[in-house]
Amino acid sequence: MIIQVALPTPLHRLFDYRLADSLAAKIQPGCRVRVPFGKRQLIGLVVACDVESEFEPARLKQVLEVLDHSAVLDAELMQLARWAAHYYFYPEGEALMQALPSLLRKGEPAHFVHETLWRATPITGTLKLAANAARQQALLDLLLRNPEGVSRDLIKLEGISSATLRTFASKGWVESFTHHPRPRHADDVQAGDLLREAPMTLNTEQALALQQFLAPSGFHIHLLEGVTGSGKTEVYLQAIQHCLEAGQQVLILVPEIGLTPQTVARFKARFNVPVLALHSGLSDRQRLDAWLQARDASARILIGTRSAIFTPLARPGLIILDEEHDASFKQQDGFRYSARDLALVRARNLQIPVLLGSATPSLESLHNVELGRFQLSRLQQRAGGAEAPRFHLLDLRGQSLRAGISDPLLKRIAEHLEAGTQVLVFLNRRGFAPSLICHQCGAVSECTRCDARMTLHRSPPHLHCHHCDRQTPIPRTCQQCGSEDLRPNGAGTERTEDFLSQQFPKTEILRIDRDSTARKGAMDKLMHRIHQGAPCILVGTQMLAKGHHFPKVTLVAILDADSGLFSADFRGMEKTSQLILQVAGRAGRAQDPGEVVLQTHHPDHPMLHALIHQGYNAFARDELKLRAAAGLPPYSHHALLRAEASQSGWAEAFLRDLRHSLEDSLQRPSGCHWSGPFPAPMEKRAGLYRAQLLIQGQERRALHQLLTLLLQMLEQHPGRSRVRWSIDVDPLDA
Ligand code: ADP
Ligand code: ZN
Ligand code: ZN
Repeated sequence: MIIQVALPTPLHRLFDYRLADSLAAKIQPGCRVRVPFGKRQLIGLVVACDVESEFEPARLKQVLEVLDHSAVLDAELMQLARWAAHYYFYPEGEALMQALPSLLRKGEPAHFVHETLWRATPITGTLKLAANAARQQALLDLLLRNPEGVSRDLIKLEGISSATLRTFASKGWVESFTHHPRPRHADDVQAGDLLREAPMTLNTEQALALQQFLAPSGFHIHLLEGVTGSGKTEVYLQAIQHCLEAGQQVLILVPEIGLTPQTVARFKARFNVPVLALHSGLSDRQRLDAWLQARDASARILIGTRSAIFTPLARPGLIILDEEHDASFKQQDGFRYSARDLALVRARNLQIPVLLGSATPSLESLHNVELGRFQLSRLQQRAGGAEAPRFHLLDLRGQSLRAGISDPLLKRIAEHLEAGTQVLVFLNRRGFAPSLICHQCGAVSECTRCDARMTLHRSPPHLHCHHCDRQTPIPRTCQQCGSEDLRPNGAGTERTEDFLSQQFPKTEILRIDRDSTARKGAMDKLMHRIHQGAPCILVGTQMLAKGHHFPKVTLVAILDADSGLFSADFRGMEKTSQLILQVAGRAGRAQDPGEVVLQTHHPDHPMLHALIHQGYNAFARDELKLRAAAGLPPYSHHALLRAEASQSGWAEAFLRDLRHSLEDSLQRPSGCHWSGPFPAPMEKRAGLYRAQLLIQGQERRALHQLLTLLLQMLEQHPGRSRVRWSIDVDPLDA
């Protein structure tokens, strides 16, 4: 028999292999096989059995081993991954293999393995360790954070040695046990005890939204546009309840920084069913266990980020996407899929509904509402009695700034702290200062590998390129003129934190950014401090923007509301307004009314006005009109052909050549335009020179045909060995 196999290679094709008769009986699509490939052996997925090959059977190589008795990737997910590979022009073998957990990609068996875990003993919690026992303290923290047990892998991952673990074991501070990963089966949960807590009584808007969502059966797409704090989550919870009562599973996708323990806790608190979070902190083994539990329906609620769209579901009932506008749903490298768009495709295949939620829906989704493809419900009031925050534009013209803060703002901060509430200061730049400048000659410290400045960090002191991760010590003298007068220029979160702690020596300042939360558990500690409710100032980046519920925050200050107003990216306004409203949404979520101060040099900017006086919907309507007039997405479709090379000019020349081939081609479909090639917005990055060609199609079909033609040209182009190229369909960043 000849079978067709998908292999993890960059080649855009499938491969034929011969299968010995002794193995042919148990083979089916979705099984894994081990095959020879060049000089190597690879694990691949069977896509089709008993096929005709265009090659002589005698010339085909033979399958070495069949790894599974039944499909590991079911037909439904196989269909989804293949559809995505086709739509995004990504090699099919890679796409299919990426739909599997990494242990399965490596050939591990697709079943639960009992593993030995370690957990704290009753005396562990009362331990007082010596101040210098840092590694013991790390193990202690780890054990106390994970009462359900930790694996040896995770202990190792935290940098804790087995000697430390042995010491703990010998003192009786830790014990091992055998973990049986399979929880009780879904059928064990009786319909009557699904709920752990009673649902809330919905307000009128919520009740209407839920009713409108539940009315149609089968596949339909519902957009829930609800201002921050309007109780979207309660609508999700009650929609989920209907699914669980019908014995079905629910898949919930959230943005990368939205998957917090608090989010997961809300679902666990409501339902008495196994809830699994699929997050980056899982070990490979835990990830496989979660995948298996989703596949056999013993887990009923699955919450994850982008890649969770490929979670197998035995009894799918509903897919929810929270913060559907969030850019993290689109993968930005490799397999550049949009989990939002795949959710719609998957739901259609499965004939189940999708619920998209956001306070600031993407213009694509609002356009789909206009076209009648999505149904819309709106929640315009905050739930539970909280009021919408008041907005103020603070004119920065003529004001002096210290660490990014004007004097009138400083005064407002003091007033809120005196009233006993909390203040959130938002600045989307981590580090101490965005650059280091020579006061004598004006030279700025730049990254040698990127067209970018090095960010100055103070704790610990170093220069850091946020684009390629290069780190260097802080120079003592200017490289241009030798002067020693080097000064920080501008403010990042560290500097603002510094300044605020000088101004408010008695108030706790909590900085929340990628640096301050890098250590495991650090974020939890910060959240715990905030939720204790004492007056404090939170200084943070967009990590603070999403999903958090801070009942004590009454003032939100946005230090630089202008950053996205004049961006070259046509989505700049959309992104800025979404970010502003998300951050603003942290203010006044409980009894105390909230206030939002936006520092701006452009207090008369029409977008800022539309946004704060009329709301997101008015802004979005205006913006959609502009897009329609300019023929930009969502009124047309974009794809970017990106290329990068080690020498300046190569990538651009490669793309120019392809453009000419396209122009000369007789097979070229009509209705497409291109512009470029242009250098990428940051031409040099991590030592590579980048360029891009933008392709625009009025119709999807024409764009797809053009890209198909382009792919053929790319794969045959003689210059392809010295550039790396990729196709990005529906790109989010220019
Ligand atoms: P969103 O997700 O829209 O930002 P949340 O779901 O977090 O809003 O709800 C904001 C607050 O309102 C939460 O504290 C929630 O418990 C409360 N809430 C939601 N719905 C109701 C309701 N029907 N009655 C009372 N309080 C509610
Ligand atoms: Zn100088
Ligand atoms: Zn760099």
